[in-house]
Amino acid sequence: MSTGGMEADYDLLVIGGGVNGTGIARDAAGRGYSVMLCEMNDLASGTSSAATKLVHGGLRYLEYYEFRLVHEALAEREVLWAAAPHIIWPMRFVLPHVKGMRPAWFLRLGLFIYDSLGGRKLLPATKTLDLRTAAVGKPLKKQFGTAFEYSDGWVNDARLVALNARDAADRGAVVRTRSKVISARREGALWRVEIEGRNGRESATARMLVNAAGPWVDTVMTRALGEGGAHNVRLVKGSHIVTRKLYEHDRCYFFQNADGRPVFAIPYENDFTLIGTTDLDYAGDPAEVKISDEETEYLLKAVSEYFETPVTEADIVWAYSGVRPLFDDGASASKEATRDYVLKIEGGDGTAPLLNVFGGKLTTYRRLAQKAVDMIGETIGAKGAHWTKTGTLPGGDFPPEGFEALVAELGRAYPGLDGKLIRRLARAYGTKTRALLGGAKSATDLGEAFGAGLTAREVDYLMAEEWALNAEDVLWRRSKLGLRVSAGDKARLAAYMTART
Ligand code: FAD
Repeated sequence: MSTGGMEADYDLLVIGGGVNGTGIARDAAGRGYSVMLCEMNDLASGTSSAATKLVHGGLRYLEYYEFRLVHEALAEREVLWAAAPHIIWPMRFVLPHVKGMRPAWFLRLGLFIYDSLGGRKLLPATKTLDLRTAAVGKPLKKQFGTAFEYSDGWVNDARLVALNARDAADRGAVVRTRSKVISARREGALWRVEIEGRNGRESATARMLVNAAGPWVDTVMTRALGEGGAHNVRLVKGSHIVTRKLYEHDRCYFFQNADGRPVFAIPYENDFTLIGTTDLDYAGDPAEVKISDEETEYLLKAVSEYFETPVTEADIVWAYSGVRPLFDDGASASKEATRDYVLKIEGGDGTAPLLNVFGGKLTTYRRLAQKAVDMIGETIGAKGAHWTKTGTLPGGDFPPEGFEALVAELGRAYPGLDGKLIRRLARAYGTKTRALLGGAKSATDLGEAFGAGLTAREVDYLMAEEWALNAEDVLWRRSKLGLRVSAGDKARLAAYMTART
């Protein structure tokens, strides 16, 4: 397509450093497009660090006949696991049958469909359990008999975003955080984009613009693009609580709540249990979202229907909330609104084209990105072939079932370092752990310690490789060490990072 004689700085400018924006930037850079990505805050500071963190088909979406979505999502479980086995791994979910709720045959049938649709090669199939005798029945009230145990996956959501950004940059993309797109205007066949960053204003041109601003997608359309009254997404708030560890085994629970919604209880960060989520229409600023007292009560009550020992406020150590940007399909209840994604192109044919991204899930981000880049190719000229189905993310170039072997290998390479630290680093950085640790022989070689095993060496790596700029980025997104470090350690970390920026 002609660009009116002007050369653009980039083929693509992507707005939004969540899973979808970074996924699109990565796929496009890998296919040979020149890409700039702008994130107004930190990577994954929006919805992409506030999820339940499941790589799943979504068992309950079968009830809404979302077969396309469920099929695509199920098939992604093993693809994503293979791409990043350090941050994505299989989990087994225990779904108790409850008298008066969905009948046992219905649950079994749903799981039969789930197992059959899923294209499983490594994930084990569903099995039936007797909770009166199975170990997973122990923490539960004694009234439950039958349960079904099935496979899904787990993902460290915020690290998935950081690794997509890293891979995009390794393939040539320019990634800018703390860089807000404040205006984008068409100049013939090009976009002129104004960006407000840490060092003031900057202007860039691009042949195509991608609006992957998640819950802010409509705001970008109205404020930055000047399109009046955009209303494409429905904002649905979801909150989670993190408690002290409620049980010892490694299974997750899928509890059916009285309102028909599932509430998950998931082993989290070794010493905790993650409980969520709620599902409430939301009208406020997505940046201000936080858990309400009613949501806390709802979650505590839902799990206390199942656990023998009631879960109370005293068990809570942290909570977080996010806003799902669901494509507005006019469904009446928030739990029914489609979880599928919608990609729409505006312009082209002489005017600069725009791709808007609506909805989506962590689980389907790679497929969404692949489809987005195909559509970009149809608009500004195709480049490269599909490649992400077999491409690994940084640190993920080891076999899906090879995590323990990686930990053992790192343990042999670094005999002077604490085994627990090695395991945590392997979970976060995979094969990149070696690049992070370098020639360190003992803990003192890792520099200043900030508590919970966090050292200057790791912080330096996160600042150099993963765009970490402040203590929050390190403690709550690149890691969850915020659950463990003291206020004093946090202040020292903040001072250390300020001195280095
Ligand atoms: P975001 O992550 O919100 O990214 C958009 C980014 O755009 C933000 O970082 C924002 O700062 C940036 N931005 C906005 N405006 C501008 C601007 N003008 N300039 C520059 N940057 C800008 N999915 C699953 O697969 N499994 C789950 O278990 C799951 N659980 C969930 C539970 C909850 C409670 C929620 C809320 C969601 C859940 N999801 C789950 C869905 C998933 O988290 C989201 O679909 C996904 O994270 C959306 O990513 P995104 O990139 O579209 O949006």
